[in-house]
Amino acid sequence: MMRKRYLMAPGPTPVPPEVLAAGAEPVLHHRGPDFRALMMRVLSRLQEVCRTKNDVLVFTASGSGAFESAIVNLLSQGERVLAVSAGEFGERWASTATAYGADVHDLRYSWGETPRPEDVKNRVEETGAEVVFLVHSETSTGVVADVQALARAAREAGAISVVDAVSSLGAVRLDTDAWGLDVVVSGSQKALMTPPGLSVSTVSSAAWERCARTTTPRVYFDWTRLRASLETGTTPFTPAVSLVVSLDKALEMLLEEGLEAAFARHAALGRACREGAKAMGLTLYSPDEERSAIVTAILTPDGVDARELVLALRQRFGITVAGGHGELGARMFRIGHIGYYDVFDITTALSAVEVLLAEGGADIERGAAVSRALEAFREAVSV
Ligand SMILES: *Cc1c(COP(=O)(O)O)cnc(C)c1O
Repeated sequence: MMRKRYLMAPGPTPVPPEVLAAGAEPVLHHRGPDFRALMMRVLSRLQEVCRTKNDVLVFTASGSGAFESAIVNLLSQGERVLAVSAGEFGERWASTATAYGADVHDLRYSWGETPRPEDVKNRVEETGAEVVFLVHSETSTGVVADVQALARAAREAGAISVVDAVSSLGAVRLDTDAWGLDVVVSGSQKALMTPPGLSVSTVSSAAWERCARTTTPRVYFDWTRLRASLETGTTPFTPAVSLVVSLDKALEMLLEEGLEAAFARHAALGRACREGAKAMGLTLYSPDEERSAIVTAILTPDGVDARELVLALRQRFGITVAGGHGELGARMFRIGHIGYYDVFDITTALSAVEVLLAEGGADIERGAAVSRALEAFREAVSV
């Protein structure tokens, strides 16, 4: 039988056909005039999406590469950093900075908690950290933090902020300049609707000042060298040229929809997913709140192993959702809804979950989830 595939994880995400087609155009030379004009346009579109006048850097690397670039450009051996974590990604940045010999202090919450600004302020004052790592959307738990307040708390205590916005950029509000975010890191394969392989970082003047003093060795990820090339629309090394073409198209589509409209759509998708899951009688792990618009983390009913559900969704229906990390693997699955996504993607995912759970004997009113999701989406977009 023909098997259609559905990508419903919080990254990589589905890529619009126009974006795929753009990436299939003949390869450009990265020092030629066509590529230079393209790169300049991509940088200015990224500034618009990040809502910043700061420099934007583009890397041929996944999101973790861009975050590592922030570490090697901002922290010398032994310099103090506060890593705020409440899930997989926050913990990853703490261990990456440790690997580079930074003096890493933690503000570690249990997974699923939402970090609090007063805790950031206290920990920065206590530790004397000069840099704070924040995660905007903690994709492992579905929590979207108030990075505006967290970064303000860091700044008031004298530290600059490095924000992981890999899964949030383009999906929920992020105002780099108005919120005073020094460094914002993102990746191509989430809400930016582009295949994996590119990542970006914005850099404030305060971050550039630190960068000039940082003694950690760096070559491929050297920001100063990259900025000098990007000023003329090229890069020090050969970039993933075709992905840059794709990203340009995807950014054009996002800006054509409008950032505010995209944020409203994602909020409505999140609401539809949560309401649909609850209508099926399922318990949410991610917060039942408006800004949790990236990924909905759902607990399986007692006795249902989430890993088996995730496997069956793929094998029976060609649907890829994400499982839970670590200990949560047995209990939790996550439906991503960022980027090229509409409400019928939500209902597809929910109805497939419903079929499998009902087959397993769960007491579910058939069709309730889909009806409720559609209704919740309509309510959300008409407000
Ligand atoms: C996807 C993601 C990353 C980056 O992971 P890569 O696999 O390196 O692209 C980082 N942080 C968050 C919150 C993410 O969702």
